[in-house]
Amino acid sequence: MKEKNFLWSGKKVVSGFFITIAFLMSLVTAQTTLADTDDPTPANGSHYQYNEASYYDKSTSSYYHGVWTDAKDAWNNTGAFTWNEDIDPNCLTFTSSVSENTGAWADATGMTWNNVTVDNMGNQTGAKIYLNRYNLKKYGYSKQERTYVAEHELGHAMGLGHNEEGSESVMNPANRDYPIETCDIDGVNAIYNSQSSLSSSSTVDIEYAKDYSGKNGVDTLKNDAQDILMGTITNSVPHTSDSEDGNTYTTQTLKISKSLKGNITGQIDFNQAGSDSVKVENSQLLERGDSVIVMLNKDDAGNYYVIDDGQGIFLSQLSNNQVNNNLNDLKTDGGPSGFIRVSDQSSYMENTLQ
Ligand SMILES: [Zn+2]
Repeated sequence: MKEKNFLWSGKKVVSGFFITIAFLMSLVTAQTTLADTDDPTPANGSHYQYNEASYYDKSTSSYYHGVWTDAKDAWNNTGAFTWNEDIDPNCLTFTSSVSENTGAWADATGMTWNNVTVDNMGNQTGAKIYLNRYNLKKYGYSKQERTYVAEHELGHAMGLGHNEEGSESVMNPANRDYPIETCDIDGVNAIYNSQSSLSSSSTVDIEYAKDYSGKNGVDTLKNDAQDILMGTITNSVPHTSDSEDGNTYTTQTLKISKSLKGNITGQIDFNQAGSDSVKVENSQLLERGDSVIVMLNKDDAGNYYVIDDGQGIFLSQLSNNQVNNNLNDLKTDGGPSGFIRVSDQSSYMENTLQ
């Protein structure tokens, strides 16, 4: 950072000299930093009162206990936050792992529930922090990579949100390769050194094995989707479980107006992460009457689910009232329609999503 400041000021004074140095700088920059890393890493709006918290580790295997211990130590070594392992099983914050491939867990490598309990000031007092052994094994994560995911999940509990797609941050939305970086430490310091306002709404962060964020990710998403369907949500039934697996999802019923990929017709039920009372980061609960394009896969239990949740949901740009008036247009394909992806609000024409 110091070098960069020096060079920018040098540009105005010695322009010929600058060209040489700028060339050298571009080499250094290309090797040491990636584009699109926010520093500090953003906050997710939930956090403990102080930069210290205790957790109970429910892991029954020494392997996963070791993963959580390594992740804890990594955060403690930054000096920005202190995690204490508690021997009390009733500790309000806990780490654990599941082996799940249905509902919100389908394709997810980890999940963190923030604000499971809060104090009367709205400060978080409890969080539920999970790794999903099923997908970590399925996608061949090494123990070190699982530790990075564990550091990421602890980061959510501490109050960090996601850094950018492609960022060099432990909070990269699909982190597998990065340890805690300077931007992440800066993010934690920003949270606990400021008097930021608190929200006590329940949120859940879900990690996916693949990252489909960004415009280019849509091509991968389209490729991975078993079915791409356009239609109207006719029913929405939440299943909120507070059981140990933390599974929360909503079963959506879609009346299909058009199949853009695959050959399903008529009506289909699929699962969306989240419920009517739990907000999923970067997603939006589908409501009855919503006109959507959804990209679906089938899990090993035979249930359809939205790939990467918000990244696989595209809402019609028409308002609900307009949708009712224009439903025939959608049904009969009266020309391409505009859709907005709920995860990043980027817009797409219907014919670019098939
Ligand atoms: Zn995350």
